[in-house]
Amino acid sequence: MITIFTRRGKRIEILTQSELRHPRLTGSRVRAFCPIHGSDHQRSLSIDPVSGWGHCFNATCQARVLVAEWNPSVAQHLLEAAKEQKHQVNARGLLSKLAHPGASQVPVRREEREPAASILNRWQQEERHMLQALEPAMQEALKTTHQGHCYLRERAIPLEIALIHGVGLLTPAIIARLPRARQRRLLQRWSGRLVFPLQAAGTRGYIGRTLWGWCPGMDENEHKQLLERIGRPQRWIKTNPAGCFSVPPEQLAPQLILVEGTFDRLALLSAGFCADEVVALAGTALPATWLPAHVRRVLLALDGDEGGREATARLSAQLREQGRAVSCCLIPPDGQGKDWNERWRLLGHVGLQPLLDSYRRLT
Ligand SMILES: [Zn+2]
Repeated sequence: MITIFTRRGKRIEILTQSELRHPRLTGSRVRAFCPIHGSDHQRSLSIDPVSGWGHCFNATCQARVLVAEWNPSVAQHLLEAAKEQKHQVNARGLLSKLAHPGASQVPVRREEREPAASILNRWQQEERHMLQALEPAMQEALKTTHQGHCYLRERAIPLEIALIHGVGLLTPAIIARLPRARQRRLLQRWSGRLVFPLQAAGTRGYIGRTLWGWCPGMDENEHKQLLERIGRPQRWIKTNPAGCFSVPPEQLAPQLILVEGTFDRLALLSAGFCADEVVALAGTALPATWLPAHVRRVLLALDGDEGGREATARLSAQLREQGRAVSCCLIPPDGQGKDWNERWRLLGHVGLQPLLDSYRRLT
């Protein structure tokens, strides 16, 4: 638990999921014993699992809390600010935990961890199932909505390519048609997003890119800047588990290219690569067991920024340890685009040439 103060002096307690004591799902809220004032008599802490924000009803406590894993981008932002203000020395630890989820689990007593996990699992599973059920409606919406077409065109992705690979658009109208208020609340954070189906271990996951505030003519970088202001929707959200944007792992080619973003994969597919030879991590991590054994050669083609370089080193060690041949092709620092999608948009096939050359050498 980390106490931080906003610039206006508001006090916020940032909790990790594992610190919620005996949580229970009540309606659409998670109720738990409050670890801040430490009472075990009432579940006075009430949290919205979708936004991660909550507060304590206890009159003397009235804590305002944020569960870090449920809203990592806001938690990260608050912690970064706290780090600068030197209010909190622990901010760095929690920040690195958010950057590498799963890397360092806080030890908790078993009986406290399991209810939290099962509550979360239940709504996370429900969220995934609802998105899956809405896939046809989302694809139809992408097919027929002007904004979706324009956005894809701006990123140089043909509509047919997006549709073939399962991309859809979750419009507010689709959510409004859901019969139950609980379902509408649960999917609210996905409203107005392009939704990509992901392959997770044994299940389907999703990642969604908000189109909030985007209008035709605005490039991706301008939109990103617009969304970086506080209070704006998170640019990307994922289900848990999420997975990779790919064909089912068992259908993958024996040699393939790993890219970071879903739009990078769409760009390569638009350029003529086969669906079974390009996998987008939808992030920078790859679960150790995700790639099947028959994939023998991997070209790592991540972004050229610090995160991409770090991930390239980490993943190449991981893949080599599994006995696979690995080569790397970082985005060239030539100012012609920070990722493959941007290079495709700006330069077409020429922008992807370094990747093509590396891939030819690999195969
Ligand atoms: Zn309290």
